[in-house]
Amino acid sequence: MSAPRVTTAPRVVAVVPSSPADVSGLRAGDELLSLNGRSPRDVIEYSLLVDEPDLDLVVRRRGTAAPFGLSVRKGAGEPLGAEVSSAVFDRVRTCDNHCEFCFIHQLPKGMRRSLSLKDDDYRLSFLYGNFTTLTRFTEMDLERVLTERLSPLFVSIHATDPEVRADLLRNRRGATSLRWLDALLDGGIEVHGQVVVCPGRNDGEVLEDTLTGVLDRYPSLATVACVPLGVSRFSTGEAMRPHTPEEAAAVCDTVEEWQTTFLAAIGRRMVFAADEYYLMAGRPFPAAATYEGFPQHENGLGMARAFEAAFGGNERAALGVRPGFFAAVDGAPPSGYRSLRAAVGGPDRGPAPVAILTGEYGARVLGPLVHSLGRTDIRVVPVANHFFGGNIGVSGLLTGTDLADELASQPVGHRYLLPDSCLSEGRFLDDLTVDDLPRPVEVVATDGLSLRRALEGAAAPTARTEPAAVPVSLGVPR
Ligand code: SF4
Repeated sequence: MSAPRVTTAPRVVAVVPSSPADVSGLRAGDELLSLNGRSPRDVIEYSLLVDEPDLDLVVRRRGTAAPFGLSVRKGAGEPLGAEVSSAVFDRVRTCDNHCEFCFIHQLPKGMRRSLSLKDDDYRLSFLYGNFTTLTRFTEMDLERVLTERLSPLFVSIHATDPEVRADLLRNRRGATSLRWLDALLDGGIEVHGQVVVCPGRNDGEVLEDTLTGVLDRYPSLATVACVPLGVSRFSTGEAMRPHTPEEAAAVCDTVEEWQTTFLAAIGRRMVFAADEYYLMAGRPFPAAATYEGFPQHENGLGMARAFEAAFGGNERAALGVRPGFFAAVDGAPPSGYRSLRAAVGGPDRGPAPVAILTGEYGARVLGPLVHSLGRTDIRVVPVANHFFGGNIGVSGLLTGTDLADELASQPVGHRYLLPDSCLSEGRFLDDLTVDDLPRPVEVVATDGLSLRRALEGAAAPTARTEPAAVPVSLGVPR
């Protein structure tokens, strides 16, 4: 298969003042038709090109008759100082699977088109930690990954039995595409795996078989996450349903038994169950040390324990969270890839009572932490996800609509803190922004340390000045 055709030149969206880009005359809005004679397909190639010491650019600028050249003088490795508009300049490689559990098939009608993009692109896996099934991976892709050391990558396994995997992906290539996983691991690429566990489909004996397959065939995988499927009220997959608490407990048991097996066999635990499983099963989370450094924190593994540690003052545990699983859709964040996002403080710091807005799962984690502070001026406000409905309770999928409904019933004059995980490029999934909410909110980076600092930003009154409309939740009903 040939390389994807370049269809779009990288467009500059910002130029750092006094940077080499600025000094050479590059402007926001310019399109970079070539850099040293090459047209990058994505920001990975772009980053390599702009690392070179001197650059000859061909630029297209609105209002000028024809493209023109610009010479940039800079040192090797010196930042160019130009931010470009997206991560991939040719087409994002879309997925050719039809998984019954696919959340994109469970979105309501009328959401912005970019949210419906089913990507299966190893480049977005490298840049954003998106999972790829490898069903569209090619020999050329492998060569590039190995040459440019695009590591780590994130691969959806779901099942190691070829027939079961093909059935889950509803794609015959699903039966054979894990051969690329072999090749990646043989090439020394760090790969993290994921199993979306669907009750009655790939839990129980199938999950046992999958983890046996991981141990036998892919012991050099870095980690394997077991995550529950999300079922929204728009799901049409008849066989897809949420786990019962007993099924969630069974997944926790299976994972913990296999951790013992992996520890004995390869000296590390390899497989982890998502925090949601422990919440569904009504069990305490495993100890922080058992997460072995939280390698799949952003996938919901150990997030509660890491948050708790950071909230308690452990700065190294403040890992931050990406905004849900639509992170890659809308292009590159100005602050770079996989970077922690800064908290955005609001203007109303003061002794007002504080409300922490969060999803129903988040409230069950935050409730005890806030309670431990012994402050009566802080409450946790769980926001039910009516927009998606079903079993969706994570804060990353909170929408502006549900937040607006909740805030409308909350007192005026309180401080409202909102985790940034539910915002992408300043917008909620339903396209509303914080300016559309009926109360001012302060957006706080989704980690325990940032929340702690935001709470310390207000003087703690000795008694609540106004009764909370919604009491602190120490156990939100599912
Ligand atoms: S591979 Fe991912 S994007 Fe593609 S259908 Fe399955 S769940 Fe959806």
